[in-house]
Amino acid sequence: AAANAAAEEMIEAISTPYSPPEGSSAFAYEAEVNKMLDIVINSLYTNKDIFLRELISNASDALDKIRFLSVTKPELLGDTPNLEMKIEYDPDAKTLTIRDTGLGMTKDDLIKNLGTVARSGTTNFMKALKESETNDISQIGMFGVGFYSTFLVADRVSVASKHNDDDTQNVWESLNGESSFHVGPDPRGNTLGRGTEITLHLKEDAEEYLSPYKLKEMIGHYSEFVTHPVSLRQIKT
Ligand code: ADP
Ligand code: MG
Repeated sequence: AAANAAAEEMIEAISTPYSPPEGSSAFAYEAEVNKMLDIVINSLYTNKDIFLRELISNASDALDKIRFLSVTKPELLGDTPNLEMKIEYDPDAKTLTIRDTGLGMTKDDLIKNLGTVARSGTTNFMKALKESETNDISQIGMFGVGFYSTFLVADRVSVASKHNDDDTQNVWESLNGESSFHVGPDPRGNTLGRGTEITLHLKEDAEEYLSPYKLKEMIGHYSEFVTHPVSLRQIKT
């Protein structure tokens, strides 16, 4: 019996049950988004690198937006005047983080942009996938749903964001394969000043994205036309 109890304790320690961010609420993905996520997650698509292209492209867009707005309203930059992108990998935590000081998203933006409002490209993307027969997920960015490619490599994705129009920094979080996501105030408070931080908890088969060589090569490739500084560093927890 004692041995049994010890074994049970060990099983519990290995599979800690998921707990969403404290104080967050659950939202259901819009039906088409759900269908598309299913296809993306279950595809045997091998060129998973494209997730980083999509995240760099989103960060770059958000930086362009705040830069544009700040031309006529420099005060929008506030305490976060540097417009930049920082990519960090943590080999122990097995996380990859992409942070930008771009426009950011309000709580409402997080809910709408990352799950509940049907994006016009969703259906077209699924149609294109069916017609191509090659299951070419790399086209995902062309259909306005590139963010979801993160689920090719991550089993949990967190998006913390702070927008000037929202007093609070909020966090969006979802597990791979779930039909819902969580949004609530970031328990860490305002760590960003302004902008967005995407944390990918990498799948076991995606740990190549913790290699500085691999990351440097990918970042060089995907940030070729990005006009903001992009840096890479290792963090230790
Ligand atoms: P697209 O970039 O083509 O619009 P995505 O699926 O890549 O489609 O992103 C969906 C939306 O989420 C974006 O249009 C944007 O509003 C929001 N978003 C994603 N990443 C960021 C970011 N880093 N900063 C601000 N908004 C973002
Ligand atoms: Mg995009």
